[in-house]
Amino acid sequence: MTTSAPSKNYADDVSLLVVTLDTNPFFWSSFPFHFSEFLSQVLAFLNSILLLGQLNQVVVIATGCNSCSYVYDSASDKNHASTNGTMPAIYSNLLHNLDEFVAKDQQLTTPHHKPGTIPSSLLSGALSMALCYIQRAFRSGPMHPQPRILCLQGSTDGPEQYVAIMNAIFSAQRSVVPVDSCFIGSNNSAFLQQASYITGGIYYRPPQMEGLFQYLSTVFATDLHSREFLRLPKSLGVDFRASCFCHKQTIDMGYVCSVCLSIFCEHHDKCSTCSSVFGQTQSEAASEENRKRKAC
Ligand SMILES: [Zn+2]
Ligand SMILES: [Zn+2]
Repeated sequence: MTTSAPSKNYADDVSLLVVTLDTNPFFWSSFPFHFSEFLSQVLAFLNSILLLGQLNQVVVIATGCNSCSYVYDSASDKNHASTNGTMPAIYSNLLHNLDEFVAKDQQLTTPHHKPGTIPSSLLSGALSMALCYIQRAFRSGPMHPQPRILCLQGSTDGPEQYVAIMNAIFSAQRSVVPVDSCFIGSNNSAFLQQASYITGGIYYRPPQMEGLFQYLSTVFATDLHSREFLRLPKSLGVDFRASCFCHKQTIDMGYVCSVCLSIFCEHHDKCSTCSSVFGQTQSEAASEENRKRKAC
């Protein structure tokens, strides 16, 4: 009796690429390269991923300053129907959703950011959404595509998001989801350097924006299997600095709670996260309290 050949395990070669796209208007208005030029190169890159394999899937999450949203999913039926004949459905749907998103995100803008500074984008939210989507793919059955996340980021890090971003990074590491980072801003992003380093992804800062498509297609279009055979950019030094939990500021040195590993920039008697008392055990503190009372 012949058993039917096992169906091809396509999960090895098929990519699920979740892209987070920085739409922070404050960043783009201060950046010499125009958002529309950036977007046209990114769209060409997304198209090339879909062309590399018909089972490949691309999901785009827009990252604004106040919110994030799914703007494109190549698996959605809507994106297969051609809409107006002048543009492929991928572009018109994505651009339409992106327009709506940017308008909605702008309405949420709170005026209390410091003038002269550029507010950061909500990277923590975008990473969480990407991981939620990937978890859904994992649960859809044993034949899921190989997921990876690509952060297209330009805004500076928001130290207030430190805890949420680190949690997302460790969650990605546990699920073996590499986080690739294409950082286009002027200074490196410590968060994304750490994200790519911890999850085994690639961190790369293109030296010039004109050739962005080249960099995207040669560095980030490679699937996880091919990466073993390629010489991809290695990260040259990672900024491992953390943010304190008390003031959400990036610090070089600080105090760490030995119980919950919360980080503080100055000495506290009690941990604000887990309420551990520092320097003495709680029973010692209680007996000292009693002694003081007796002395009075
Ligand atoms: Zn602090
Ligand atoms: Zn603690």
